Amino acid sequence: MTRGWDYEVAVIGGGPGGSSAAAQLARKGHRILLLERETFPRFHIGESQLPWSNEVMRTLGCEDLIREAGFVNKWGASFTSHDGSAAQYADFARAAETPAPQTFQVPRERFDDVLLRHAQRSGAEVRQGTRALDAIFDDKGATISYVDPKGLAHAVRAGAVVDASGRAGFLAKRFGQRVVDPVLRNVAVHAQFEGVPRREGRRAGDIQMVTRPDRGWFWFIPISPTVMSVGAVVPKAVHAAAGRPTAEESLQHYIDETPAAAELMREARRVSPGRFDADYSYLHTQHAGDRWVLVGDAGGFLDPIFSTGVLLAMQSGLEAAALISAGLADGDLSRARFAAYERTLQKRYHHFRRFAVGFYDPAFRDLFFTRSSRFGIYEAVLSVLAGNWRPSLGTRLRLAMFFGLVALQRVLPIAARSHSAAAWSGRRLPTPEPEPTLETER
Ligand SMILES: Cc1cc2nc3c(=O)[nH]c(=O)nc-3n(C[C@H](O)[C@H](O)[C@H](O)COP(=O)(O)OP(=O)(O)OC[C@H]3O[C@@H](n4cnc5c(N)ncnc54)[C@H](O)[C@@H]3O)c2cc1C
Repeated sequence: MTRGWDYEVAVIGGGPGGSSAAAQLARKGHRILLLERETFPRFHIGESQLPWSNEVMRTLGCEDLIREAGFVNKWGASFTSHDGSAAQYADFARAAETPAPQTFQVPRERFDDVLLRHAQRSGAEVRQGTRALDAIFDDKGATISYVDPKGLAHAVRAGAVVDASGRAGFLAKRFGQRVVDPVLRNVAVHAQFEGVPRREGRRAGDIQMVTRPDRGWFWFIPISPTVMSVGAVVPKAVHAAAGRPTAEESLQHYIDETPAAAELMREARRVSPGRFDADYSYLHTQHAGDRWVLVGDAGGFLDPIFSTGVLLAMQSGLEAAALISAGLADGDLSRARFAAYERTLQKRYHHFRRFAVGFYDPAFRDLFFTRSSRFGIYEAVLSVLAGNWRPSLGTRLRLAMFFGLVALQRVLPIAARSHSAAAWSGRRLPTPEPEPTLETER
């Protein structure tokens, strides 16, 4: 027991963010309690990983565990227009500043289980089937109450609390505000299927995207040798008008009206229930306070178009762990210690958001899919899509040139529109508001 605490840190949530924070703190020799309300393995959406996660796994000491788990190798992403008339391939091997361009497609029930076990083996005390109820803070620590798998209530004292509870927002809902993104207002509906064809050889593990005329898109993610995760992302307004009563019917409806997706799904057989996800792009206004920190989706989540969620959750888990460890050593866990962390989270979110919003902008796609980049611009863009969240000055300059060209493309087309909205969606789409500010949910 330290300073009257049962644990130095309590981590709420055993997803990638919580496991990363708990493992790293335990590896630094701290006494950690992790509470996870589910019993693993449990389903979670978010299967496609990014090459920049490799660095995080290495830092966490679980790179070999992930490599040996037998997940599908991913080297890039394929894009196809709704009618199959245009197709492009983003190969991570061409991405600037990306030393290991290969990553994985993972069934999250297995991936999250590997990470949670790693946290446990690293020394964290992990309690599954255990729901955190509340955390009461005072000058000396926090009292965390929870219910165990038998329904019995308990309370423990900890020096700090990490909220890694994902969209549940265990602490996030109490402090600050969740700000919903005004542009990325989409709904996702998804399920797992067998009998969906995939490419040959090195590209068999690609994530395949199929675009829709309404700015929506599909993902096809091969999560095992036979199973494909299939999801449709559509604007909320479209779903309000065209959605069907169940997730299964809605997904089938969106597939049926998109020829390239329907073609891929011709022989498909659903092997899981369908599920909805809505309102998933948001950023919190406050990411830390005295003795608490938000990690991963608890603090913010960006549209899944470029698969940034797990990388951001794990990276923030690592960063939070480093700061809490230093704060424990110095006896200071006040919010001021986390000021740089809060700034980094905001900055990183907006760095990737620029690209997520761009994907829904025809001018962005015109240039991205032209690929005839000079000066390494295409490679710079690919490096961000590979997860590069701290580009060098050279790459930042190339990205600035890219967005300059996107602006030019809107008014004075400089790239062929062969892959533009006309080809990709069948009709010209209005350009989204450039770089809007976020608005408050409540
Ligand atoms: C439609 C969609 C598609 C996506 N696709 C991708 C993708 O392809 N690639 C990608 O990287 N990301 C993707 N994501 C994002 C990804 O799912 C998340 O960003 C990621 O899971 C965040 O990790 P986390 O650890 O912060 O939260 P989570 O993984 O959500 O983990 C939080 C954990 O906290 C537990 N918990 C919650 N409340 C409590 C409580 N009170 N007590 C105890 N435990 C609690 C939960 O049971 C859960 O296990 C997608 C998201 C959506 C919505």
